[in-house]
Amino acid sequence: MEFLMRIVKYLFWLLVVSWSVALLRRVLVWMVRGVTTPGQPSDAAGAAGSGASGHTQGGLAPRRLVRDPVCGMHVAEELSIPLREGGEIVHFCSMACRDKHASKVQRMAANA
Ligand SMILES: [Zn+2]
Repeated sequence: MEFLMRIVKYLFWLLVVSWSVALLRRVLVWMVRGVTTPGQPSDAAGAAGSGASGHTQGGLAPRRLVRDPVCGMHVAEELSIPLREGGEIVHFCSMACRDKHASKVQRMAANA
């Protein structure tokens, strides 16, 4: 009889534990749902973030290239060495090219 009581007690505790675990899980799901319900706009924000990253990729594409008239090399405008010549700005890949161009212009001016 005592053996049976022990089994019943064991089953009772098993029931209590499984029930409390189920309740805890339900509470957890409820809490997670409570978090994810305002998280729905965060999904939209994530989509906007991916869109923003696409925008940055697009922003890199229109980097302007300028041609060095001395060596014929193409340089990114922000990396080039600009020289104001008359009304327009001429871009060079290096100081050496700029100096070469400047001396050529001076020579042309001297010949003229
Ligand atoms: Zn150059």
